[in-house]
Parts: sequence; structure tokens; C-alpha cells
Amino acid sequence: MNQPLYGVYGASGCGRGIMPLARAQISATGTSLDRLVFIDDKPRPEPLNGHCVYSYAEFLAIPASKRHVVIAIANSVVRESIAERLEQDVVTPWTVAATNVVVMDDVQIGEGAALSPFVTLTSNIRIGRHFHANLYSYVEHDCIIGDFVTFAPGVKCNGNVVIEDYAYIGAGAVIKQGRPGAPLVIGRGAVIGMGAVVTKSVPQNVTVVGNPARVLVK
Ligand code: UDP
Repeated sequence: MNQPLYGVYGASGCGRGIMPLARAQISATGTSLDRLVFIDDKPRPEPLNGHCVYSYAEFLAIPASKRHVVIAIANSVVRESIAERLEQDVVTPWTVAATNVVVMDDVQIGEGAALSPFVTLTSNIRIGRHFHANLYSYVEHDCIIGDFVTFAPGVKCNGNVVIEDYAYIGAGAVIKQGRPGAPLVIGRGAVIGMGAVVTKSVPQNVTVVGNPARVLVK
């Protein structure tokens, strides 16, 4: 019987950061490493960091008992459109996590997450589908995070914060703790600039920057 096949979708910066974690994860199961490949809509003939780079159609054509894919692309809109394709093609969303990720009590996390080294998720946290938490990010207690949310490296998300779908939190941003029953809310599709210090709720679809973070008027 064919073996399962594993893909890291996106052969650029994000994908090259996730691939070694994926490799460690499947090595632990005894699966042969040639069953782990990159997928990219701009495929290339040469391997990348030791793994073939296939188009999605090529990936689907390889005989496999089951297909697992982590979408390693930071852009949430792209991530969602690829997730829809995977669902149509009965490809299983794959969560890839570094071996040193710390997950404390009562954490629920949706399918297809990518958790980089040194990420910490403390206790009583809910996280949606296809979450990305890049290097050294943390999520503190009682946070609720939606679908297709992206944390760049070093995001400090303190307790009692709600982050709605598609929000992007830039590198090193700090989000102030909310209160039980009165969370600090980052609105759907909002972008938090790198290094921003977010002291109050952020509306949907705006960009905030600075300390204290203010809406960027373009
Ligand atoms: N990509 C893709 N399909 C898409 C959009 C992007 O395969 O619909 C690939 C793109 O060819 C590139 C990677 O995803 O190789 C995204 O790389 P980028 O450097 O833009 O972003 P990052 O790796 O930081 O998420």
C-alpha cells in the first residue's frame, strides 16, 4: 500500500522555516523523508534544502494513501484560498509544531497550525484554523484567536485578548492584557505594525503602528 505524503505549501521564507520542523515531526514516525515535499504554484526543477518542489497538481498525482499539508505562507488570504482547495481535494490540513513549543492547560487549536520554535501557549486558550505563530511568540491565558491569524516573530499577546479572523500581528508587537469580560479586541483583518504597543482595542481592517499604537492614516 502507498505511504502517506506530506507537503509544506510555500517554498519561500515561511516554508523554509517550517520544513525542518515538518521533517523532525515525520522522522519521529519513521516515515521516509522523500515523502515530505514542498508544494508551490511556482515549482522548480531542483530540490530546495533537500526536498523536491512540486506544483499542487504534481503533488496530487503522486500515489499516496493519504495527503497532509501545512500551508506555510504568511498571507492569510492566500492561506484561506489554498485551504479551500485542500478541502475540495480531500487533503488533510497538517499541524506542524517545533519540538520545544510549550502548550499548557486547556488549549484548543484548530487544524493546520504552524508553531515555530520557542512559541508558548499558556492556559485556557482557543485558537482557530491555520494559525501561524512565528519564532518566540506567546499567547497568554484566556485569549481567543480566530481563523487564519498570523503572528510574526516575537509577538507578545497578553491575557484576555480576542484576535479576530485574518489579523496580522507584526514582529515584536506587544498587546496589552484585557480584563475578564472586557477583553482587548483586535478586529478582523487588522494589521499591527512591527514593534507596536497595543494598549486598546483595534477596529477591523485598519493598520496600527507605534507606542501607543495608533491607526495609520494612509
Ligand atoms: N505561493 C503559492 N501560491 C499562492 C501564493 C504564493 O504557491 O497562491 C508561493 C509563492 O510562489 C512563494 C510563497 O508561496 O514561493 C510565498 O512566499 P513569500 O516570500 O511571498 O511569503 P512568505 O514565505 O513570507 O509567506
